[in-house]
Amino acid sequence: MSDHGVTPGLVCGHHHLYSSLARGMPAPPTSPTKFIEILQRVWWRLDRALDLEMIEWSAKLGALEALESGCTAIVDHHESPNAIEGSLSVIADACAEIGVRVVCAYGITDRHGSDGAKAGIEENRRFLSEGGRGMVGLHAAFTCEPRTIDAAISLAEEHNVGLHVHVAEGAVDAGGGADLARRSKPNWLLVHGVHLPDGIEFDGMMAHNPRSNMNNSVGYAHPLRFDSPVVLGTDGIGANMLDEFRLAFAKLREHDVEASPEVPWEWLTNGWQLVPEAQDDVVTWSYPTMTPWHLGYSTGVRPIDVIVGGKKLLEDGQATSVDSDEIRAKAAEQAARLFAAL
Ligand SMILES: [Zn+2]
Repeated sequence: MSDHGVTPGLVCGHHHLYSSLARGMPAPPTSPTKFIEILQRVWWRLDRALDLEMIEWSAKLGALEALESGCTAIVDHHESPNAIEGSLSVIADACAEIGVRVVCAYGITDRHGSDGAKAGIEENRRFLSEGGRGMVGLHAAFTCEPRTIDAAISLAEEHNVGLHVHVAEGAVDAGGGADLARRSKPNWLLVHGVHLPDGIEFDGMMAHNPRSNMNNSVGYAHPLRFDSPVVLGTDGIGANMLDEFRLAFAKLREHDVEASPEVPWEWLTNGWQLVPEAQDDVVTWSYPTMTPWHLGYSTGVRPIDVIVGGKKLLEDGQATSVDSDEIRAKAAEQAARLFAAL
């Protein structure tokens, strides 16, 4: 038996590449005590400070870390209210340079007034019209006016793509999120669903982000409550999908001691429904037995080689087509600019 197991490329079903520079950011003046305050004092403060240069290096760093984790496809959800136009192309180009597949979306919101919402709609429209690979992004029902939600849904239908939207992540979005979920189509990607009522019927896929949900203390989504397919995401905390799978298993097991790791493994492999080409990518791992019952309990499994679209982009754990040290150095410079802006 070979010492090295092989899988297709893994898929991160929900990411925020703009958060790659956030690690180590200055703490907010007052510490958040609940979910809405985490949004207001951390993420909405961060996204307002982003410019296109920061977004570029944040995306490159996030894509590099994905490649180094055996994740060859990212479904991204982006927001940068003071640098909206062109931002999705910056992310797509950054990922192309690293060699990681990406499905982009701009998170439309009325948080910054109706002009901000319009600019978000236009960025999705521009990117999709120019042939970019994407979905229409919406931040969440609770930060959008009804007409904005309607416009986003129409735009998605116009381009025959799904809506990529946070749904009932916190109690603050329970009602609006449930209403939106009931309108969903099979090509929608609903994210979190923690506060959706049991047994609610919706179309589309549910992106489950166990680590992020624990970090924000929003509760357990318990995705088996829903009939719809589930995919694993990281919600911006890297793209190590084996880690996220292991955590999803532990979290499920906490609720049901009889649960099998085959369940979260199916969630992981459902990513291929979002980015089917990742199935043709080849990841050779440091561990021989790439099966759910092994990986549910095996830490530190890492990729040796990664082939994306026929090209070997990682060899002996090192990126081959880009200078990973340079990307980390440039990203650190941009992180310093970002922290100064905060
Ligand atoms: Zn998210």
